[in-house]
Amino acid sequence: MVFPQQVIAKKRDGHALTRDEIRAFVRGATDGSWADYQLSALLMAIYLRGMTPGETADYTDAMMRSGTVADLAAVPGVKVDKHSTGGVGDKVSIPLAPMVAACGVPVPMISGRGLGHSGGTLDKLESIPGFRTDLSLAAYSAQVGRVGCALIGQTKDLAPSDKKLYALRDVTATVECIPLICGSILSKKLAEGIDALVLDVKFGRGAFMKTKDEARRLAEALVAVGRAGGKQVRAVLTAMEQPLGRAVGNALEVAESVACLRGAGPADLMEVTRELGAHMLVLGGAAGSLAAGREKLERVVADGSALAKLREIVAAQGGEVGVVDEPKRLPQARLQVALAAPRSGVVTDVDAMGVALAALRLGAGRARAEDRIDPAVGVGDLVKIGERVEAGGRLATIHANDEAALAEARTMLAAAIAIGDTAPVPVPLIAETIT
Ligand code: URA
Repeated sequence: MVFPQQVIAKKRDGHALTRDEIRAFVRGATDGSWADYQLSALLMAIYLRGMTPGETADYTDAMMRSGTVADLAAVPGVKVDKHSTGGVGDKVSIPLAPMVAACGVPVPMISGRGLGHSGGTLDKLESIPGFRTDLSLAAYSAQVGRVGCALIGQTKDLAPSDKKLYALRDVTATVECIPLICGSILSKKLAEGIDALVLDVKFGRGAFMKTKDEARRLAEALVAVGRAGGKQVRAVLTAMEQPLGRAVGNALEVAESVACLRGAGPADLMEVTRELGAHMLVLGGAAGSLAAGREKLERVVADGSALAKLREIVAAQGGEVGVVDEPKRLPQARLQVALAAPRSGVVTDVDAMGVALAALRLGAGRARAEDRIDPAVGVGDLVKIGERVEAGGRLATIHANDEAALAEARTMLAAAIAIGDTAPVPVPLIAETIT
C-alpha cells in the first residue's frame, strides 16, 4: 500500500519517487482514491522539486495507461502525428494533416479545444457545418486506415488522469512545470497509437513558453520522454511573436487553411507547415531528406491531391464538403469592418497576444471552459511585420457579430499593431530542430 502522505513527503523533501509511487499517484487521480488536496500537494511538490528524466518517463507512461491506448497496428505504415504547444493563429494542423496523408503517411490526430485566448483545432474544424470530432476510438482507427487521416477530439477514455490533473494544475499555479507538461502532452499523444511525433514548440509573446531557452528545455524533455516511450520524436522550435498567417478566428482560420491547400496560403504559415510536414515525411519513411519532404509537400498542393484529401476527411467526418471549394459557406460574421492605418509607413510590430485578446473579445475563444465560441468572428487580412502600409489603408478586417465587441476589439487591435519608418530585422520563424 502506498499512502499519499508518504509520497507527498518524499517529494517535498526532494527525493525521486519510485515507479510504484508514481503509478499510485496517477491511479489516485483517475479513480478518485486520492483527495484533490493530496493530488494538489504533490503537484506543488513536483513543481518545486522537479522530476528526474526517469520519473518523468514513468509519470508519462502511467498517465498514458490511465485510459485506453488506441491500437493502430492494423493500419500499415509508420503513423505520425504533430503536436503544437499552441500559438495565435496556429491552424497548421488543418493544412498539414491532409498534406502529409496525401504523401502516403498515415496521420492519426487527436486534438484539444483551446482555452484562454483562442480556439483549438477542434473548435476551428467544428466551424465546418456538420463536421464531427467526437468519433469513437474504433471509428477513428477505421478512418485512419481507410482515409489515411482522422482529426478528432480527446475521448473521455484517453489519458483520463490528465483531465483531472490538468484541471487541478490550472487552479493551483502548477501549469508551468516541464515534467508535468511532458506527462500531460505526451500521455495524450502516445495514447493515439502513433509510431512517431513531430513537436512544434513555440516561443515568444503569443506562446506558452516566452523565451527560446525555455522552449528548448521543454523540447529536449519532450523528445527524451517520447523516446523513452519507444517513439521517434523530433521537435522544432518556432517563433510566435506575431500571429501565424493573416487570420485569427475559427472559420477564418479554416478558410485560410483551405487557401494553403490551394497554393495561396500566407508565406509564414506555409513555411511552418512545410517544415513540420517534411519532418513527418522523413519519420514516416516517405522522404529521404527534409528537402525531399518539402518538395513532395509542394507537389501534393500543386496537383490538388492534398485538397482532395481534405475533402475526403471532411466527408468521412460528416462535414459539408462544399466548404472546401467555397469557403464562403463557412459561418460569416454580420459585421466585417476594415481597421485603417493611422499613418503611412512600415509595420514594425503585430503583437500576437494583443491580436488574440481582440479575437477573444469578439467571441473567437473562451475565457472560461464552459463559454461558447462564435465560429464566425475574429480578425482577417492581418498585415505582417515588415509590410508597407499607406495612411487609411487596411491593417486588418474585423469580423464581429456585436457592435460593442467590435468597438472594443478595434481599439485593442489598433494598439497591437505598430507602424514606423524602418522595417525591423526579420526574425527567423524556424529557430532550431531537436532530434
Ligand atoms: N498542453 C497540455 O496539453 N498540457 C500541458 O500541461 C500544457 C500544455
